[in-house]
Amino acid sequence: MTNRLYYSDGYLSEFNATVVSCNKGDSAYEIILDQTAFFPEGGGQPSDEGFLDGMPLLDLIDRGSEIIHLVRKPIEVGKTVIGKIDFDLRFRRMQNHSGEHLISGTVNKLFGFSNVGFHIGEDYMTLDFSGELSASDILQIELEANRAVWKNIPVVSYFPSDADLKLLNYRSKKEIDSDVRIISINNVDVCACCAPHVKNTGEIGLVKIIDFMRHRGGTRVLALCGYDAYVDTKNRFESTVLVSNLLSAPQGKIAEATKKLLSDFDAAKAQITELKFKAADAHISKLSYTDGNIFLFVEGLEDRMLREIANRARLLCSGVCAVFCGADGSYKYIISSQSVDLIPLKEIINTNILGRGGGTSEMLRGSCTADRHSIEDFFTNTDFTAFIDTGDNT
Ligand SMILES: [Zn+2]
Repeated sequence: MTNRLYYSDGYLSEFNATVVSCNKGDSAYEIILDQTAFFPEGGGQPSDEGFLDGMPLLDLIDRGSEIIHLVRKPIEVGKTVIGKIDFDLRFRRMQNHSGEHLISGTVNKLFGFSNVGFHIGEDYMTLDFSGELSASDILQIELEANRAVWKNIPVVSYFPSDADLKLLNYRSKKEIDSDVRIISINNVDVCACCAPHVKNTGEIGLVKIIDFMRHRGGTRVLALCGYDAYVDTKNRFESTVLVSNLLSAPQGKIAEATKKLLSDFDAAKAQITELKFKAADAHISKLSYTDGNIFLFVEGLEDRMLREIANRARLLCSGVCAVFCGADGSYKYIISSQSVDLIPLKEIINTNILGRGGGTSEMLRGSCTADRHSIEDFFTNTDFTAFIDTGDNT
């Protein structure tokens, strides 16, 4: 049975232990020690990282009474080894996990909801609660959790006797009858938990809820505590400064300034659209009735404006009206006609203008890679009226 040193001292970052067994596993050697300060994944907290006997620890497995340490090379049974924990990482996780107890205890006390899921991820912690919380509830929970930080309350861990446990009102995700480790934070939370915690709530530093959402009939809360909350706050502050400088607005007024910017942007977009329709009008006004085809080359107009030009210009010719937008090698086109069925012409046109596209008997749309000169040649010299549908089937 491995003696779990982190139960009584979450701050032990280096320890001596004796190798009890060493077995070759599928991908690593499995080392069991008489005691360990390495915490194996559990209660939502990932496994510790660090070095054992000078080798990087690959992973930890909790097998109930024993903890397996995975390393690359074997270690002699009976050897005294040194374990070194990545304590910066461990302490950040302790800050987050103890902060989670403050949030979950506060939610339970104020709203009666249970924590039904908890995970410390790479970017933030995820806490799932059994009921729906509103935005104002979240603000209240965050403030109460931080008040518990400011009070610097001792975080006490202990194993109550079975009899004491029966009398204890505590949060727990699993039904366990005995050997239950309790983490108690006076007046805030009492919870069954296997993980190492900070000694006093003051060490959590800051509890920051960064988002929340409805989740499986309850609420999912994303939060950060301690150093991670500090880094997140620092990053957000840097973004605020950047945006404030870009907008030339005081930091407290960037939302207002952004709203104004977006409104100015919408007005400018509307103005550009109006100007583009005017440009389309100008193209049409230059045309007069043509006995044959009309082809036009325009720039910077959107599909709906090309359609507008094509629909109006087709009334001014006996053949087809072709509108091209772009530059040599990359034109968008719309081809329209009031008298010619375009479906049978699709392949002929696309072959001659190196195009791809399709459409209806009245309008074709697509793109082509031919140059302007070849396109002009083709539409000048092709008589599409031979394809006019006269309705005479004889
Ligand atoms: Zn816990």
